[in-house]
Amino acid sequence: MLYIHIPFCQQRCIYCDFYSTTHTAAHIDAYIKSLSREMELRRDELPSPLLHSVYIGGGTPSLLSAEQIRKVFHAIRSNFTITTDAEITIEANPDDITPAFLETILQEGVNRISMGVQTFDDATLSLLRRRHSGAQAIKAVECCHTMGIPHISIDLIYQLPHQTAQSWSEDVRKALSLPIDHLSAYALTVEEQTPLHRLLQQGEFSLPTDELACDMFQLLCDETKRYGFEHYEISNFCKPGCHSRHNSGYWSFKPYLGLGPSAHSFDGNIRSVNPLSLHTYLTSEGTPEQQIERLTLTELCNDFVLTSLRTSKGLDLNALTHKFGSAITKQISTWAAPHITANRLSLTDTRLALTQTGIMLANDIISDLMIIEDE
Ligand code: SF4
Repeated sequence: MLYIHIPFCQQRCIYCDFYSTTHTAAHIDAYIKSLSREMELRRDELPSPLLHSVYIGGGTPSLLSAEQIRKVFHAIRSNFTITTDAEITIEANPDDITPAFLETILQEGVNRISMGVQTFDDATLSLLRRRHSGAQAIKAVECCHTMGIPHISIDLIYQLPHQTAQSWSEDVRKALSLPIDHLSAYALTVEEQTPLHRLLQQGEFSLPTDELACDMFQLLCDETKRYGFEHYEISNFCKPGCHSRHNSGYWSFKPYLGLGPSAHSFDGNIRSVNPLSLHTYLTSEGTPEQQIERLTLTELCNDFVLTSLRTSKGLDLNALTHKFGSAITKQISTWAAPHITANRLSLTDTRLALTQTGIMLANDIISDLMIIEDE
């Protein structure tokens, strides 16, 4: 799996803590050169040159011109072999979607577009400093559909400033009435160092309560079900067979290579992250200096349990034993027992999964199953 980070945005949304810069035009060409070089230097970190999934995210990949997009794909194809059935995703902002942009990405084999819509409410979009309106988002999805993009996913956020049960319900219904086959919906996370955090501290506005957020999540689960979507991961819903192969790869601990500033990579044991600076990235002479995170066995095990339990497939106890030993499985089964009795977790064959009741309490249940590392 290959992830490519495009670290440019036209303007910064107030809640975002992804690495990107708004100083774009002058740097994109130089950036693509550095990206191609990093690809050449690091391609052997993947166990095989065959790519089953390519994900171009950001930042805002849809800011790239047709020629720049072609250059990125040329670099990928010069260093790897994209399999014929690969999932190739590009992230896009609704206001960048034009027939010409879609034609370019289709020619390059992109078969999935992931669009940050967040909400259809114009006042909230402008408060969040999103560049698009609700109407533009609808038009963009329809344009993707008409132009023949095979898979369309959109992102929504709940627990936003000024959001009510009613406005969230309208967002969800509008989203589900569009020709999409995948929906990701996240509760707003207020990251420190973001303008949103500062504005909240200053009391500029408040957020819906956690109780209301639970109701919003419940409505999301009910409505997606009504529209025939599978709830395959806590924050992700899809039409049958249309799950995100890339994200599922992350959740099943497949190795991936991430290129570009702030991009993460994982080889099965070791995680690494590229520098969070475009300048450092552009001026690196060899491979950009990465921060290495060597995970302890306990950390790997906790990650495995947490990530697996967030998915509808749940935690495979045989796989847990195979990876971490039977003592761990025994311990986690003991901790899980009261949740099974209370119908918050189900145990079918050797799979432990959250029930409908459990999904609403996922964080608490999962934290009960985490191993505390000895000091
Ligand atoms: S467009 Fe996306 S990456 Fe850029 S600031 Fe907004 S949320 Fe962050």
